Amino acid sequence: MIVFPTTLEEAQASKGTIRAGGTELAERRRLPGLGGDLVDLRDTAGLDELRFAADGTLRIGAGHRIANVGSNAEIRAVYPGFAEAVGGLATPQIRAVATMAGNLLQRTRCWYFRAPETGDRCFKRGGNMCSARAGDHLYHACFDLGSCVSVHPSSIGMAMLAYDGLVDVAPGGLRSVSDLLGDGTNASADNALKPGELVTALVLPPPQAGEHSAYFRAISRARSEWPLVEVLVRLVVVDGVIRDAAIAMGGVAPVPLRASVSEAKLLGKAPDAAAFAAAAQAATVGSAPLPMTGYKLELVVGSVLEALERAAERDPVVLPAPVNKLPRTSQETR
Ligand SMILES: Cc1cc2nc3c(=O)[nH]c(=O)nc-3n(C[C@H](O)[C@H](O)[C@H](O)COP(=O)(O)OP(=O)(O)OC[C@H]3O[C@@H](n4cnc5c(N)ncnc54)[C@H](O)[C@@H]3O)c2cc1C
Repeated sequence: MIVFPTTLEEAQASKGTIRAGGTELAERRRLPGLGGDLVDLRDTAGLDELRFAADGTLRIGAGHRIANVGSNAEIRAVYPGFAEAVGGLATPQIRAVATMAGNLLQRTRCWYFRAPETGDRCFKRGGNMCSARAGDHLYHACFDLGSCVSVHPSSIGMAMLAYDGLVDVAPGGLRSVSDLLGDGTNASADNALKPGELVTALVLPPPQAGEHSAYFRAISRARSEWPLVEVLVRLVVVDGVIRDAAIAMGGVAPVPLRASVSEAKLLGKAPDAAAFAAAAQAATVGSAPLPMTGYKLELVVGSVLEALERAAERDPVVLPAPVNKLPRTSQETR
């Protein structure tokens, strides 16, 4: 059975798996035992807002289509790194249908998790082993954080981590994206959302004055693929000195990670080649590659360096005007 609740309350009270754009769920539901009732959010009111609050915070409704967020001129000016990560993921067709929350909450792409023959042994499907660890893990983790060695699939989760983003959950309210996605040690889940909980919005704090940002992905083909490694960099440069830095990495671990040693190395330095090279090298601190994922460490160093250089070459971001409601585009039909 599929229900189409029109209010959040109705959606929360409905029994079944939540469907947003359905682009990830449709494929997973073909696996044995993963069908069942659906709660489709297509008609649910209150999930499509897009606005800056008076304090400059950006609130993006959970049901907003990825394409509309990635192409929004104001978001591109205020959060260029975020807009690049969002606007370049997957394919134009997927971005036109998929939603912001669906992206954040998509399940791992690990081929053992998604294979009918091996899936039910997988930690993330209630089993007690990780077939990838001893098997083919070419696209898996190079930071081995626990029993599961898959990588978190969400580019938006990685991007939100760089912005210390928040997620609004009903019931319960705001929680940090790092709380929602966890620390990667819980092999049985891709996020900490509980049954009955619904993400209603993604929230980004305002950028800082003097902030520069950029996104880079190392990918095995030109497009239409998850990245091998992806990086979002934010640099706050005041009077020629780096005052703050945030570097988030995806494709490297069961959760997106912050390169905190690299961030610390940048503080107080001029944004120059020497500082960037040292920070990029430090991005592998804590890594523990699997037999087949050692190649990712070079990609981590190169991707962090590339994103730092791109960020530094850009003009500082535009700070949001207070109480600025973003215009809806004609594509924003839900
Ligand atoms: C070729 C290809 C390349 C891709 N490349 C990338 C990439 O580079 N980066 C990337 O990030 N993704 C990539 N994707 C994945 C794609 O972005 C996801 O399929 C999509 O974002 C899922 O969004 P959706 O709205 O369709 O989610 P759905 O399929 O509807 O849902 C996904 C999950 O989220 C849950 N959910 C959805 N909304 C809510 C809510 N409001 N509250 C609670 N739970 C909810 C659902 O129950 C489900 O478990 C790629 C996909 C393809 C096919």
